[in-house]
Amino acid sequence: MMALGVDLGGTKIEAQLFAEDWRLLDRSRVDTPATYPALLQTLLDLVAWADLRAGVPVAVGIGAAGAVNPRDECVLAANLAAHGQPLPTHLSNALARPVTYLNDSRALALSEAVFGAGRPFSSVFALVLGTGVGGGHVRDGHLQTGPSGTAGEVGHISAAAHLVQGLGLPIIDCPCGRRGCIETLISGAGLARLAKAMAGLDLTAPQIVAARASDPALQAVWHVWCALTADLIQTLTLTVDPDCIVLGGGMSDIPEVSMDLTVALARAQFAGFGSPVILRAEGGATSGARGAAHAAWRVAND
Ligand SMILES: [Zn+2]
Repeated sequence: MMALGVDLGGTKIEAQLFAEDWRLLDRSRVDTPATYPALLQTLLDLVAWADLRAGVPVAVGIGAAGAVNPRDECVLAANLAAHGQPLPTHLSNALARPVTYLNDSRALALSEAVFGAGRPFSSVFALVLGTGVGGGHVRDGHLQTGPSGTAGEVGHISAAAHLVQGLGLPIIDCPCGRRGCIETLISGAGLARLAKAMAGLDLTAPQIVAARASDPALQAVWHVWCALTADLIQTLTLTVDPDCIVLGGGMSDIPEVSMDLTVALARAQFAGFGSPVILRAEGGATSGARGAAHAAWRVAND
């Protein structure tokens, strides 16, 4: 069965149609509509495009920011017009077929575990470091999910107290409703916040990354970012002990990020014990579309 994967972002929608051997057959990219009826129609139009291109109804998978609450199927995603709407239900009713809807970090995790950097390993945790921080755990090709639908929302694990208190870092209100989530310190905005708190500097994340080698104050900021992020990876190691961590999102493009995190992670782990290998995602910015398609294909074939 052919599968359509849709990466539903706040500004763009990327749709990719895959053949049964996972060759990319075609793709379509459109702006994300600002109203819910227009968004629903655009997604239905993309499925109609894929059905026509395939000649048969395709399996439909959508990877999007935020989470879906299994209790009411409503989408929790502040930057999407679908926020508070049961989008997966509306789509599957309109299409008269199952629609697989999953968080975009989980879609990237599946894509990287099955097709990308995590291929050689059985237990793969993808950690997406960008505007937000999220992830997903794939074991033997299966995304690990649970009844709450929140597994993988690792950006909302609390930041390590010994680092926050030891360095006098701020405890920030997180948009999720909790306080002191690690995302508020290690996302792109989080890195900027660290520079402000530690050195009084008003710089963006790309400015900090570009200048860190030649500025001792920014070097210190970078090391704290690495220590905080490594502590999160250590939490993942203590819970699911993955073979590898695949880094995605904009901050995974920072030169030497894998190496610097590997050094920081060795310091966070018990002395003498091993840690997961840290790799960068291979699938690029639209890796999530392939993961969403694969999740849908699996539902159709299981
Ligand atoms: Zn949070």
